[in-house]
This record gives sequence, C-alpha cells and structure tokens, in this order.
Amino acid sequence: MKKIILVPVILASLLLTISCRKDPVSPDEKWVAPSYSSGEKQGNITYQLLIYSFADSDGDGIGDFNGIRSRLDYLDALGVSAIWLSPAHPADSYHGYDVQDYSTVNPKYGTEEDFKALIDAAHEKDIKIYMDYVLNHTGKGNIWFTEAKKGRSSDKFGWYHISADPVTDIATGVFPMLSGYYPGEWYDVTVGEIGYTGRLHFKVDFSGSPKTLTVSRSEAEAQSPNSDTSVSMFLWIGEPGKAVRMYRTGTDVYEITLDVDSPWGVLVRTSDTSWDGGTKWGAPRGANVLTFGQPLTLSTDDAQDILFGSPSQMKFQGAFGSWMPDLNFGAVSDAASSGPFLALAETADKWISLGVDGFRLDAVKHIYPNERGEENPAFLKLWYDRCNETFRKTHSTDIYMVGEVWMDASSVAPYYKGLPACFEFDFWDRLKWVLNQRTGCYFAKDLMGYRELYRSVRNAPVPATKLTNHDETRAATILDRNLAKLKQAAAFLMTAEGEPYIYQGEELGYWGKDSDDGDCDEKVRTPIVWEKATDAATGDLNGHFDMTLVTDEISVAHQTSDSGSLLRTYFDWTRARNTTPALSSGKMSAHGRYNESNTSDSSVAAWYMTSSDGSKALVIHNVGQSEVTLDLSGDKLDNQVVSLGSVSVSGSSLKLGASSSVVFLQ
Ligand code: CA
Ligand code: CA
Repeated sequence: MKKIILVPVILASLLLTISCRKDPVSPDEKWVAPSYSSGEKQGNITYQLLIYSFADSDGDGIGDFNGIRSRLDYLDALGVSAIWLSPAHPADSYHGYDVQDYSTVNPKYGTEEDFKALIDAAHEKDIKIYMDYVLNHTGKGNIWFTEAKKGRSSDKFGWYHISADPVTDIATGVFPMLSGYYPGEWYDVTVGEIGYTGRLHFKVDFSGSPKTLTVSRSEAEAQSPNSDTSVSMFLWIGEPGKAVRMYRTGTDVYEITLDVDSPWGVLVRTSDTSWDGGTKWGAPRGANVLTFGQPLTLSTDDAQDILFGSPSQMKFQGAFGSWMPDLNFGAVSDAASSGPFLALAETADKWISLGVDGFRLDAVKHIYPNERGEENPAFLKLWYDRCNETFRKTHSTDIYMVGEVWMDASSVAPYYKGLPACFEFDFWDRLKWVLNQRTGCYFAKDLMGYRELYRSVRNAPVPATKLTNHDETRAATILDRNLAKLKQAAAFLMTAEGEPYIYQGEELGYWGKDSDDGDCDEKVRTPIVWEKATDAATGDLNGHFDMTLVTDEISVAHQTSDSGSLLRTYFDWTRARNTTPALSSGKMSAHGRYNESNTSDSSVAAWYMTSSDGSKALVIHNVGQSEVTLDLSGDKLDNQVVSLGSVSVSGSSLKLGASSSVVFLQ
C-alpha cells in the first residue's frame, strides 16, 4: 500500500542537509536530476508549454516539435506526466489562437510526422500530450471563414454569425446562440464575390435592341465549345481567359451551358482573335453586376466587365476582436449536428487517432455568450462525449479534457456538468494573497469550500490548480521576485488537492507583466534558456522578449546545478507529490488546531491530505517572516516526506522557520 514511501524519505533527509548550506553551490557541481520509472508519476502534474518558445531544434529561432522531443528528459525530471501544448495549428499570429486549419500542424513547428514522433517519445516516458483546442472562434484566415465570406451560396456562411443587420437578426432569432445578447462585438467583413464557380447557362440575344446577355444557374449537362467556325459569337470567362464559341439557337440568338470557375465575370465577343472595332461587348458603366435569370444590357461603347456578383459590406461577431470570428453552433439543442461542431470533431478524431491524450479547451465561457447560463456546460458535455466516444475505441479510460473558465470558483462549478476538469483561477488568487499578506490560516478552508462547490455538481471533479498562465502577469512579478515566496508557491501547488499545472518558465522564476498590466503578452511568454542564452527560441516573439531573463544564469543548466535554485525546489516537491499517494490523490481536510479559527497563528496554513487507500499526510506551511513553534500533539512528526526552509522537530513540537514548509506522513 505504501511501497513508494521509501524514496521521499531518503529525499527528505538529503533536502534537510542541502537546505542548511549557506554558500551557493558552484555551477560546476554535478547534480543528477531525478528521473522517473514507470508507475512513479502519480501526481498528475502537467506542464504548460508554448511550442514557439520552448525549444528550437533547427536554429531558426522558433520552437518546434523536435525541440520539445529533445527536451523530454527535462520534463521527465520535473516529474510531469502530461504536456499542454499551445495551439499547434497554422495561424496568422505567433501564439496560434487564431487557427487557420484544425486538421493540420503549423509548418513552422515541423511536420505531422515530427508531431507523431513527439507523441510517441513522450509516451515512452509516461508523458501524455494535450492539445490546445479553440472552439469559440477561428482565425479570420481560417479555410472555413474564407468559404463563408463567399456569401449565402456557401455552405459555410452559416458557420459564423455574419449579418448585414445584426440587431434585427438577433431580435428575429436568426442567431439562436446570440439570443438576448446585444450589442455584442461586431466587425466589418466584405461578403460575396464578383466571381463564380459552378454550372451556368448563357444566352446572348443580338436580335433586338438592346442586345442582352442572360445568365442562369443550370442543372443541364455542360457543353463543349462549338467547333462550327461559321459562328462568330464568343464568351470570355474569367481566368485563364479563353474565347468560348457559342451555339446559334435562333436568328442572332446564341446559347451554351458551361462549368465556370471565374474570379470575376464574363465578356461577350464577336471575334476570337481581336478585341478591336466593336468586337468586345460588356456592360454599361454602373450597371455591370449580373442578376441570374435577368437579361443584362450589353454595350460595346466603354464596355465594362460583367460581374457575377456584387460584394456587400456585412458584419461578423467576434468576442476576441476583428481577427477572430466566433463560430455559430446554433441552439445548444442542435449544436452536436451543426456544421462547425461536426467539422471540429472530425479534426479532433484525427489527433486522437494520432495518439493525443486529451484537450485543453480555450475560452469556453465565451462559446455561448451567457457565461453563467446553462448552454456552455451543456455544449461542453456534447463535445466531451463526442471526443470520448472516439477515444474509448482505443483506450480503456476516458479522455482528459480541461476547460478554461476564467471566473471565480462558484461560477466555474456549473462547468463541471460538461467537463471532468476546469482550471481553478481562484487557487492563485488566494495563494498570492496568502504569500503577500503572509496570512495562511484561511487557505485550506477556502480551497475546501471551492471543492465542495464542484462536488455538488460532479462526483469526481478534477480542479486544475495553477499559479499563472500565458495570459497573466508572472507569479514572480506578483511575488516581488522574492525567491522564498516563489519556492513556497511551488510547495503549496504540489501539496494541494487537485491536478497542478506548471507554466513554462515558472519553475525558473521568470517574471514579466502581461498586457493587462501595461506590458505586452510576449513578456510573459519568454523562451526557456537551456544551456546558453543564445540558444533560446526568441524568433517568434516580435522582438518583445525580456533580455534580462535570457541569461546563462537563469538557465536550466545553471539552476539544475544550484541546490538553492527555484528549479531544485520544483524537482524536490514534484517528486514528493509523485511518490506520495496522500499528496497525489488525497482529499484535503482541516487541521484541528491550525485552521481558519486560529488567528493567533495566522501565518500557518495546515491541512491533511488523505487518499482513498487510507494513507494520510500532514501539510504545514509557515508563510510568515518569523519562526513559529507549533504544538502538534496528536500528529506524527517522525516520517517527513519533504521540506523547505528551516524545520526542526522536538517531541510533539515543530519549529518552522520563516517561509518554511514540511509534509509528514501520518
Ligand atoms: Ca525551429
Ligand atoms: Ca462565442
């Protein structure tokens, strides 16, 4: 039952030794990072990785699949059992959240074969691969949006909310997703084409005045051009231009049925060799747009190109701005049979078949605009079930899926109706307060309260705990680059109930403000420096990376060799979590003495973690600036799993130094 306990105990004694060292360790000192053998990674720790700035394998400065594959040893040493990849699809932006084609990978990152090789190599190390999937919107450059812009004749037109009059269309129920949602965010788009692709019947009538051209959509069989050279009536259709001889069907009446693929339109010619001397017939200026089935007056004086269509200015809805149009899944009751749902699901099937283990779903509270309504959880259940159906064909477990629901815990809770896991933004919100206010006594109560909310919705909710992500000001900035606080943040993350995420660079103490705090998002997406600063994948960050972070001293190599580094704290605490069932799968419960009622020891955060196999751990953090002496009669203090800072036990008394943490098995 507790066969893996031996490892953390040995580790703990080692830690106690190194935590007493006063001098920094020489960077040359060799230290072997822990690696994991099969079955040891119980902690369900996921690493959030930005493909474009993690590791570059080919020297073009842009991170790629092969780069990630070459650094799997590092992720293994860090104890992660899954990687959340930033969007892997082609996109206009560097960050990838404006997907152009969900069924392919971004060639900047490598080929599909490279991606498959990454998945296979990760699986060899018991590391799963989660793809970032964007369901709310596509990029403006998406192949579906390009089709939709052709207008109502396109079967993709209804995949987005495109309207000449959004107010009326919303009010009259044209867009069930947006019902009651006004004004929303709408942006200009040119819809319709001057060209046409399809079968058309052409009829030129030169028998009267005015001379006319009538073009109609046709189901009749397409004809070859007339080979009778006695007929001098031709069509000139789009590119590549070629004179097509028509058939005489009456006195000065000519007809033909053709398959056309024209980017603009058509002209009528009475010569196939010359454009001169009144042989070119077009439309009068200002009246050159065809209406199918209606005769259009022909003119040889100032003849204008005859256009198949007239583009119009319309608007599309986009919750994330003018370059990301939102998808239209219709009423949630019909969503699973909507075009975009089926098309997205087909692409997800492809990646599941390739070996992908799960998805992180972006911006799910924005899919239906009422973020606190019933629709989004219901929609997400449809999506989850659809993907899981595919997954279960080749797996005996359910697929993993985590939603980004960026709200407080009580608003996140209903989303557990749809998904097994959701990010817990309140975790960091509370923890940063705990560490900066040096008040720990309320933390366990708050966290347990959130979990109660989730459990009222779902049997086994999986809160995805985290410090910060790619959209937030870095933890190190919020914690004033205070190393002791940063180490303790890691210790909290690895000892709380849930499944923790580590965001690229967080384990190295990266700092940076995001766009909400007056800088730009690239500043919180800095590349990993591996051995040398010059190797960092800075190429895709628009020149906005922070040079003060890209140094040899902050590198993985340097921090690995420095026993006092933040990275070493991460190694220690992820290992403790991975090898201690009470930490990896335990449920939190309150300590009898050190809890929210004990405000005289307000710097102490304490709780138990108890796993279903009955193993139990006592977790204690002192976030204060002074040592505390705690009376822990009733607890066992002789089996220490891991510690941080200064810890000393005497009988049932525990002295815990400033910014110090410890875990004891019970
Ligand atoms: Ca590259
Ligand atoms: Ca939406």
